[in-house]
Amino acid sequence: MNAHGDVLAISDEPVRKVQKWPDAVPGNWKDFAPADLFACGSGMVKHDGDYLLFHRAPQSPWLLMDLVPARKLYASMFASMSRPLLMMIWVLLPLLLWITLKVVTQLFDHYIAHGDKLQEIARQDPLTGLANRRRMRELAQSEFERQKRDGQPLALVMIDIDFFKKVNDHWGHASGDKVLVELARTMRANLRNVDQPARLGGEEFAVLMPNTSLAEAAQSAERLRRAIAACVVEADPEACVEPADSIIRFTISVGVAEARGEAADGVPMTLDGLAAIADRRLYDAKTQGRNRVVSDDNAHAAAVPQVQA
Ligand code: GH3
Ligand code: MG
Ligand code: MG
Repeated sequence: MNAHGDVLAISDEPVRKVQKWPDAVPGNWKDFAPADLFACGSGMVKHDGDYLLFHRAPQSPWLLMDLVPARKLYASMFASMSRPLLMMIWVLLPLLLWITLKVVTQLFDHYIAHGDKLQEIARQDPLTGLANRRRMRELAQSEFERQKRDGQPLALVMIDIDFFKKVNDHWGHASGDKVLVELARTMRANLRNVDQPARLGGEEFAVLMPNTSLAEAAQSAERLRRAIAACVVEADPEACVEPADSIIRFTISVGVAEARGEAADGVPMTLDGLAAIADRRLYDAKTQGRNRVVSDDNAHAAAVPQVQA
């Protein structure tokens, strides 16, 4: 082709008359002007999967062109590759695929494990390792549904440390934290495996007791109260107190309630209703002098000597 776009010769085919670019060349090349191709000198343009290779013949006003379908171009590139290179590709490709799969599976495992860990963290109290309020609510909800289905008793125990503010004020916050950890440890040590202890927040704890009647739960709570009253916590070394004053003793007040088919006024029991009854009894335990278990709305628990910080 010359610079005016006149196609002067076509291989395998006679030039019938002076044929013009781009009509003389199979395919749609109207976006490429002859002047631009001449300006480039040599190169390759691509359209609709075809490649047009062009090269300006040296010391001549002509441009040589060859039209190659992409498929043919790749096939010839492939055929021109050396055997060892091809062998390497055949060996390396599955290896690369295997490595990629391995990496992807490990990434997935990592994120799944991480996801589980995050779920766990979101439901655990970081200080004591007990279930937090959110987890407790989930557990209580499912136990409550189960209780409604199979009619087995379900008890809820609410616990609050007595005069905990005084512990913090006297021995410092770090010592207060040690008391919270000790309470959690004592709960775990004194409760059955089926019981679900939780820290609801601050110095408030709860225990969900499946298949447990009010009387049994009150007994467990009383055992726990005694165990707590016998606990001895060493104040944090940073606490500015005399060595003789470094031992912390503390007590808990406890409210116990049992889920029944119906609440006392004939209204079906709800989870919040159960928690409200246990809370009310805990409040009664506080007003009756603390360091005691209340599992009844009428009876006043026997007074137990108060242990104050
Ligand atoms: P009561 O016998 O009526 O329950 O009195 P209390 O002092 O235990 O109750 P109050 O609600 O007045 O004080 C609770 C204190 O618990 C106040 C707060 O600083 C402390 N507290 C809450 N969360 C934490 C914690 O994570 N660590 C420590 N060390 N203290 C906490
Ligand atoms: Mg308290
Ligand atoms: Mg409280």
